[in-house]
Amino acid sequence: MEDVRMEGGEVETFAFQAEINQLLSLIINTFYSNKEIFLRELISNSSDALDKIRFEGLTDKSKLDAQPELFIRLVPDKVNKTLSIIDSGIGMTKADLVNNLGTIARSGTKEFMEALQAGADVSMIGQFGVGFYSAYLVAEKVIVTTKHNDDEQYVWESQAGGSFTVTRDVSGENLGRGTKIILHLKEDQLEYLEERRLKDLIKKHSEFISYPIYLWSEKTTEKEVSDDEDEDKKEVEGEVEEVDEEKETKKKKKVKEVSHEWALTNKQKPIWMRKAEEITKEEYASFYKSLTNDWEDHLAVKHFSVEGQLEFKAILFVPKRAPFDLFDTRKKMNNIKLYVRRVFIMDNCEELIPEFLGFVKGVVDSDDLPLNISREMLQQNKILKVIRKNLVKKCIELFTEIAENKEDYNKFYEAFSKNLKLGIHEDSQNRAKLAELLRYHSTKSGDEMTSLKDYVTRMKEGQKDIYYITGESKKAVENSPFLERLKRKGYEVLFMVDAIDEYAIGQLKEYDGKKLVSATKEGLKLEETEEEKKRKEEKKAAFEGLCKVMKDILGDKVEKVVVSDRIVDSPCCLVTGEYGWTANMERIMKAQALRDSSMSSYMSSKKTMEINPENAIMEELRKRAEADKNDKSVKDLVLLLFETALLTSGFSLDEPNTFAGRIHRMLKLGLSIDEDEAGAADDADMPPLEDDANGESKMEEVD
Ligand code: ADP
Repeated sequence: MEDVRMEGGEVETFAFQAEINQLLSLIINTFYSNKEIFLRELISNSSDALDKIRFEGLTDKSKLDAQPELFIRLVPDKVNKTLSIIDSGIGMTKADLVNNLGTIARSGTKEFMEALQAGADVSMIGQFGVGFYSAYLVAEKVIVTTKHNDDEQYVWESQAGGSFTVTRDVSGENLGRGTKIILHLKEDQLEYLEERRLKDLIKKHSEFISYPIYLWSEKTTEKEVSDDEDEDKKEVEGEVEEVDEEKETKKKKKVKEVSHEWALTNKQKPIWMRKAEEITKEEYASFYKSLTNDWEDHLAVKHFSVEGQLEFKAILFVPKRAPFDLFDTRKKMNNIKLYVRRVFIMDNCEELIPEFLGFVKGVVDSDDLPLNISREMLQQNKILKVIRKNLVKKCIELFTEIAENKEDYNKFYEAFSKNLKLGIHEDSQNRAKLAELLRYHSTKSGDEMTSLKDYVTRMKEGQKDIYYITGESKKAVENSPFLERLKRKGYEVLFMVDAIDEYAIGQLKEYDGKKLVSATKEGLKLEETEEEKKRKEEKKAAFEGLCKVMKDILGDKVEKVVVSDRIVDSPCCLVTGEYGWTANMERIMKAQALRDSSMSSYMSSKKTMEINPENAIMEELRKRAEADKNDKSVKDLVLLLFETALLTSGFSLDEPNTFAGRIHRMLKLGLSIDEDEAGAADDADMPPLEDDANGESKMEEVD
């Protein structure tokens, strides 16, 4: 961009950023029936801009000097076919204009286009933070004149088509402060010049805007005037349209006068100040939509007031879906708007609600906070801490209410279960209450999910603990060898297959006085009969030798090899330490590329190999090892068992080729292919067996 002096109002041309350009083409060239939402979007932008200047004005009154009144005005102009939206908000500096309206794409730009192409409705635009561009649904040209306290007045103009211009405003029109958006309507969109249509639209979409929205309206009055008053009529705003011919001769005559006035179109009495019983579901829905830009109704709402040592009113909403950027860490999610005695203060007050409830939307209006509260003060503020505590409590109540309806709760849980689990991880005070809201699939739950409460009602006699297994998916865990004995005993096992479960369960530890016990970790102790105990002792003694041989073969790969309590069918499995990572956690941590790797050395799973003495493979292995400790096939089998156990226990293989090589060797054995006859080429393909490379096997070190 060449450097152009702006003194004379020279025109600077900018190219739209590529994605914005794409978005504009999509908006202009695709047919959408729901074009009317453009007005809601522009009014909502105005309202945001007004919020910003009002907030600045709280601490520095002089910021409002240039234009003390806060308003939104709409001016339809049938002659020029334009609709103007004017606000006395914060306005934009030249840099704001260039950045916000064309050269820097929001993260939502691409997401919104993808959503559109996937069949989403254009009315969703506001959710993606690109609402301004909806102006092009109805306008062929848009002109934005704006004045910010810190800069001169500038004009932005574009007919889309790849570029926009910015010029210093030398027209002489003075906004004082704020923004005026002139839409040059397309020929087939002139309905947006009709007062009736505009009024209805404001009522429908912008009823809860807390600034007055005025519509420049025509007013026709009939007035009797005497002839000599005739001369004065020009002083009345508007023009005299027609004069009653018949009465022309008489001294007095009737005239129709068309005048204009600012008609107030919204009520602005905050809905949260009204009594909950008097508010209809539709009113809540329409307030919710205006608050959030959501195109769907809310899933649930809670409207309450707190009185006593501190007073505030609040309305909290749970949306039907998670937003597209729910866990986008670049964006702090906070959707509670803070008001102080009806005056909007801010909408991203982090102290108001914990991160895990960032998806809850609503308003809080406090009677106790000072109006000129600054962000710094908020961090220390005791009142805010009490409000926050109450909001969390009310949110949990609200979720509990949703849980009364299965269908609603399924929707809710699908969208926000991660948040609940995050809450369990972070909020020790409310952990027990949040635990009531958890749902899991289990060995007994079928297609439905079960609560911990229901699990407890199904516990077997003598069952002391609640069992769970963590893993990548329901499929991956439901047939796990770890569950064999538990299933046989009729104990239900919960499937925790969300990555965040590992974190949540690490904090939860128990429910209703019952310990939560992992099926894949050490420390799983099951009740046994005397007979079982005796048999186990015998087996332990019998397999002690094999355990030692196996440990020697596996070396550092495992901590120890022991006779198992938990498997019934499988030959063996690998369990992890009670307080270390599970296999699943190891997988999750490996997937976090940017994680600090210093943790993994001491947290990564210490594995214990558990063998099943009742399994035929283990029995045969025991015999062979007893017959000849240095039997090469014993070593090969032990390594193969270890590697398969890694897989069935949820770990990954560090060297899949070595494993495959071992399997191939077994296949050859099964197919009676002689190793030596198989050909040199084939052998070259085979990875060396463990320790074969240095010619000395650990086996030889034994004894
Ligand atoms: P969003 O409003 O969701 O941020 P938009 O595309 O609607 O996204 O607007 C982009 C930006 O342009 C806004 O964030 C704001 O900074 C600026 N903007 C839009 N309209 C106005 C206005 N009337 N007054 C001041 N700034 C505005």
